[in-house]
Order: sequence, then structure tokens, then C-alpha cells
Amino acid sequence: MTLGGEASRIRAFLQGLQRPASVQVGAGEDDAAVLSDGRVVTCDLSLEGVHFSLDWISPREAGARAVAASVSDLAAMGARPEGILAALVVPSRREDPDLDLQVMEGVRSAAARWDAPLLGGDLVRAPRDEDRVALDITALGRASRPLLRSGARPGDRLWVSGELGAAAAAVEAWQEGRGPGPALRQAFVDPVPRLELGRRLGVADGVRAALDLSDGLSTDAHRMAAASGVGLLLEAERIPVARGARLHHALHGGEDYELLVAISSDIPVTRVEQWARGLDVSLSPIGGVVEGTGVHLAGDPGGPGGQKGGVRPLAPGGWDPFRDEEGEGEG
Ligand SMILES: [Mg+2]
Repeated sequence: MTLGGEASRIRAFLQGLQRPASVQVGAGEDDAAVLSDGRVVTCDLSLEGVHFSLDWISPREAGARAVAASVSDLAAMGARPEGILAALVVPSRREDPDLDLQVMEGVRSAAARWDAPLLGGDLVRAPRDEDRVALDITALGRASRPLLRSGARPGDRLWVSGELGAAAAAVEAWQEGRGPGPALRQAFVDPVPRLELGRRLGVADGVRAALDLSDGLSTDAHRMAAASGVGLLLEAERIPVARGARLHHALHGGEDYELLVAISSDIPVTRVEQWARGLDVSLSPIGGVVEGTGVHLAGDPGGPGGQKGGVRPLAPGGWDPFRDEEGEGEG
């Protein structure tokens, strides 16, 4: 099974690294590293032209969105944010001399909104031939019982928060020159890290594994399957596809920042649904954990041969910047 080019490159440079005794969860193992005292640390890099375009969104929105993306990894660990660090690279030849201030205004507003105070950072003015903004957000948090992606067991139910595919549908609309409608645009510009839901799941009985859907359900599901040593079976008809998006956006589009969660089937469905109560987000059952490896999709009406009701392997088709280079994935 392949996890795509990014995963294999990360594996290559992590090879032989020892996890120090002061670290519970180390590099490459989960959404974030966890130190022995329960502190959770993660970083997330946003590069103009790769993760966003300033033709689509404002510099302020780009700043806020980068913070949400990084904080989402804390949510996936069931961690409470303690702060962020922001490292920003801005081009020197932009017409707009206040570009850095606008990006940082977005960073500051998101830091306040997600209760993750700005603790520091760095600002670099890029050389003249570099014309893109890059923003790296390090997020720090704390979890009493970190929620890992490695605990899924055969027989567990799989749940997903919210609705999927809207951000990918927005990107597709921009790329095709139409521009997305307001709801799709909002999903891309203003993703909501599921912090409170993650905290509730982190302390609830029977919750075995979770990760956030940053790179697309199909790709992130493979990550959970591989980390847990199990197979995942998704049911196409149960996947909550956002209005204005289609199933392939929900399966393979990245940047939803919803949570994929494996929960023991001993926990009644109604009790799981209660965990999301009052949070303005739903939890939907979308399949189960099975013996074996990899990810399969059942009942995809658009599957090969249109064999509705059939089961087919689901290759990781989500976001992977190194995929083309290595010729991996669904293409
Ligand atoms: Mg993540």
C-alpha cells in the first residue's frame, strides 16, 4: 500500500531517528508531537501558489486560515491550544508594502478567536526574484489524554464531523475561472478547527483514534489505517457531502479540517451524537474498521463499471505535493 509521495519522503528522512524518552509521540507518528508532560506541538506551512492564491483570498484571510489549519492538528489530538508562533516570508517587490501587516492581522485575529495567543515568530523579506508569501504556524497545546490515530480496532465505527468537499469545490471553481459561491468560498477561507469536539472526544470512553482531514478523506483514512494496523471500510452513501460539492470532492479534496474518528461500537450511536450537541457541528457514521489493511469504499455509484453496491479499494487521492513527482496515488 502506498501513502503517496509525501509520506514516503517523510519516512525516508525520519529513518533511524530515535524517539527521546521525553517524547510520547514523535515525528511522523501523528498530527502533532506529544511531549512526556502532555504538551502538544505541531507546525503547518502555507505557501502562496501551492496552498492558496492571493487572487482568491485576501492576505488577512490567508493569515487567519493558516492559523486555523495548524490549530486543527491540536483539535485532532484533543488538545487545548496554549499559543502559536508565526514565521512569515513576504516578497519585497509587491505593490502592496503593507502585505506583511495584513497577513499578520489575520494571524492575530485567528489567534484570539481560537484562544491560542501569539507567542512570537519571525519575519523575513524574500529576495527580489521570490514573489510568493509563505507562512508557517507552529501551534502549542496540551492534552491530558492525547487522541492518537493509531488506536482504531476492527469492529469500531468510523465517524466524521461536519460536511466534506466544500473547500475542494471552491478551489475547483477558482481554477476553472468561475469563482465559488459564498458558502463554498467560506469553507475554504474560514475552516473551523474542531477544538471543543476534539476535547470532548479526547476524554470520552470508547473513542479510539482520530485525525483531522487536512489532505482529503481518502488520504487521511489511509493514515489512520496504517497507524492502527487495520483496514477501513467507507460507505459512499453515508459520507456527508457539502452542498455544492460532489462525492469526489468529499473523498479526495483536502482542507476540510473535519475530524475522522474511530469509536468502539459498544458506544451507542445516540451517545456519540450527543458529544457534538451544542457545537454547531454534526457527527456522522460513515463506515467501520475491519481486519486487514488499506481503505475500501462500498456502494459508490460512480465507481468503475458503476457497480453500485460493490466494494472497491480507495487509493489515497487527496492532497500530496510530491505525488506527481513520484507517480503515486490515483492520478
Ligand atoms: Mg492533521
